[in-house]
Amino acid sequence: MTDTPTQLFIGGAWVDAGDGATMPVDDPATGEILCHVADAGAKDAKLAEDAAVQAQEEWARTAPRARSEILRRAHELILERTDELAHLMTSEMGKPLAEARGEVAYAAEFFRWFSEEAVRIDGGHGVLPDGRNRMLLSRRPVGPCLLITPWNFPLAMGTRKIGPAIAAGCTMILKPAPQTPLSSLALAAILKEAGLPDGVLNVVTTSRAGEVCEPLLRGGRIRKLSFTGSTQVGRLLLAQSAEAVVRTSMELGGNAPFVVFEDADLDKAVNGAMVAKMRNMGEACTAANRFFVHSSVAEEFGRRLAERMGALVVGPGTRDGVDVGPLIDRVGRAKVEELVADAVERGARVLVGGRTPEGPGCFYPPTVLTDVASDSRLMDTEIFGPVAAILTFDDEDEVIRRANDTPWGLVGYVFTEGLDRALSVSERLEVGMVGLNTGLVSNPAAPFGGVKQSGLGREGGRVGIDEFLEYQYVAMPVR
Ligand code: NAP
Repeated sequence: MTDTPTQLFIGGAWVDAGDGATMPVDDPATGEILCHVADAGAKDAKLAEDAAVQAQEEWARTAPRARSEILRRAHELILERTDELAHLMTSEMGKPLAEARGEVAYAAEFFRWFSEEAVRIDGGHGVLPDGRNRMLLSRRPVGPCLLITPWNFPLAMGTRKIGPAIAAGCTMILKPAPQTPLSSLALAAILKEAGLPDGVLNVVTTSRAGEVCEPLLRGGRIRKLSFTGSTQVGRLLLAQSAEAVVRTSMELGGNAPFVVFEDADLDKAVNGAMVAKMRNMGEACTAANRFFVHSSVAEEFGRRLAERMGALVVGPGTRDGVDVGPLIDRVGRAKVEELVADAVERGARVLVGGRTPEGPGCFYPPTVLTDVASDSRLMDTEIFGPVAAILTFDDEDEVIRRANDTPWGLVGYVFTEGLDRALSVSERLEVGMVGLNTGLVSNPAAPFGGVKQSGLGREGGRVGIDEFLEYQYVAMPVR
């Protein structure tokens, strides 16, 4: 921890908040304070904005190959420092070290992917249909960006935005979540070491998100907002972005259905459920939230899932052999407790877990609920914890209707051995992504994102860089 930066990163320099304010970073496994980091206010945000705006023109002119090489070097540096970064992430966020190492690799891969995309930004040239005019088409960086990230994937949510912004030639201000600022500050140090010019990336850690971000969005100099977080905050930021007509990308909440048909391979379904539910202790936007299981296999599925969930080891993420770390904080855990209590009150049976352990830290045990009533609160709330809620169904049309009966549409999981059914159900689900006989969809090479109130735009894949580029068309007469 000693050499992890704790100051703001503005214009390539490490600086304290102007008013000297700091905020604590807690270890969710113990409740103890790990360290303090700078707590920026509106004046600091303005300095970061000045730095990003000043650096924009030159950065946009930098050769794509040079931008690509910086990302490539940063990718290598991240991988070289996997252990260090994983420990840092586990200490501030709680996830077990093995998962943190997995996230470091996933996060680094966004930099490699976008280093490859930086040199493939294309344009066009042609004669228009009237034969009298030509069109020259080029793609230019959208301009200075504000990137706002959540705490659940402290490194990967940053690289998924910073990677395409660097590749496209945009400058940026990153505002990470206050629970997990250290991973973002460590990432800024790596990018500086990789040769990123001063002012291209600025990191503003703060406990005063509204005070810091609203003036940036309304001020007219920031041209793009890329936000990952809850739908509720996303809506507010969309409204704030409207004033200066800021382009937005929104990666918002989910309420994923996990559908197990009667012809599913139950081994695959249970393995898929363990990943879709338990990755990141259930604190993932892609987490399976509603398990719809055909009534003919529901008992067997529930029994097997409860057995696997009950065998998981809960404890501090830094300890060897631990599968499930603490939840992010007491507020997050209290929400999970309330959702489980509500479901049980409405008739759900607890197959395993369901009881908060005594002692320090924000631990909650892997829990399986069955016979969950459709009007339980966890049916229309992101649980964001290690709780699998099982409901049964009998008919394909019925389960599709119930799966789609939500304002969200990020991801859905479908388990069936029938090819026709697999494809037709995938097509009918109102989601941006489908896991077909798998519980994991995230991949830097695939377009990640949702429909309905789960978001706008896509991150990753070939289209990820488009969010940071604008078209310019030049008209020219044919002589
Ligand atoms: P959150 O409360 O919406 O916060 C996300 C980020 O927004 C944090 O940095 C937060 O900082 C900031 N924020 C909150 N209010 C703000 C305001 N008025 N102005 C500017 N920034 C503001 O979400 P969370 O609890 O951290 O994360 C969990 C949510 O993220 C879940 O809904 C999850 O589904 C979603 N998520 C979505 C994806 C995806 O790709 N679709 C990926 C991961 C997570 P403060 O905490 O200081 O307010």
